[in-house]
Amino acid sequence: MTIDIHDILKQSRDAVPFSRQQIIDMLALSPSSPEAYLIMAEAARISRELTGDRAEIHAQFALNLAPCPKNCAYCSFAAMNKVFPKPMKLTVEQAVEHATLLEEQGANAVYMMVTANYSFDEFCEVTTEVRRHLRPETVLIGNLGDQTSDTAPRLRDAGLDGVYHALRLREGIDTGIDPELRKQSIRAFQDAGLVVGTCVEPVGPEHTNDELADMILFTASINPAFSGAARRITIPGTAIAKRGMISELRMAHIVAVARLAMPRSVIGNCTHEPYSLGAAAGANLFWAELGANPRDIRENTEEGRGFTVAKCHDLFRDADCGVLDGPSAFFRNN
Ligand code: SF4
Repeated sequence: MTIDIHDILKQSRDAVPFSRQQIIDMLALSPSSPEAYLIMAEAARISRELTGDRAEIHAQFALNLAPCPKNCAYCSFAAMNKVFPKPMKLTVEQAVEHATLLEEQGANAVYMMVTANYSFDEFCEVTTEVRRHLRPETVLIGNLGDQTSDTAPRLRDAGLDGVYHALRLREGIDTGIDPELRKQSIRAFQDAGLVVGTCVEPVGPEHTNDELADMILFTASINPAFSGAARRITIPGTAIAKRGMISELRMAHIVAVARLAMPRSVIGNCTHEPYSLGAAAGANLFWAELGANPRDIRENTEEGRGFTVAKCHDLFRDADCGVLDGPSAFFRNN
């Protein structure tokens, strides 16, 4: 593999799309090489240019905590991981409290997530009630199981502006979900007028550069509000824990390559969990979390791995990044 970094940077500045092989070559660099740092700097330049130096903080809370039959190996909600054997769900009042708290804290978008076995009707009912209590301009996003062309429009009617939905790495192998279902759902959401945000996730040390490049290109193909990359967080005691976790530097490198490979119409570039090195490498979207979190073993992630909106602000500030004040431009502009 040979890569001329100056040609790569020129091609990026000219906004000429990169080939699959070029993306693989960029991913194959050592994350600590000067070339990788130049790619990170270029990614940060693009992110700043596209947003006017206004990164975003989106905040998610879970409506329930329950053993999920889809058994994604890396998820603490997966039934097989036995982290949370006892189901629990928020009341509508608690959901409203969580959403309005995150709105007050200045999140640019509020996300509600559920496990794949949460009742769809109930999700719509809670969404309607939460929407009623939020300011009209607040962006409300759902993170829920696969849907069809019949159900997706009901989410829009209930008050969602968009959804987070990802075709995960090794979907159908490390998860109990057919990859085609994920793709069909994304189409159904978009056809229903819901804006889709996505990500290359959850990245582990075993994923090859070819797999990462293919997934980066898949996310680019759906014209999302944002793409990006997030590493797999090791959940202690799970079978997948032995595969390990990539470093923040490698994560930053992948996030930067994802930015270069995305068309400029995709403004957002996310990473998770938040880290200032990621922002310095072109990530312009962090997530804060409240309550249950599929990467945590604590019922209330604010006592564990979760980051608050204020902490995400600090991390962006540490990378000399400005933060948007107001509703998400990623979802509004898409
Ligand atoms: S990632 Fe989602 S679908 Fe998979 S086990 Fe966790 S909650 Fe269920």
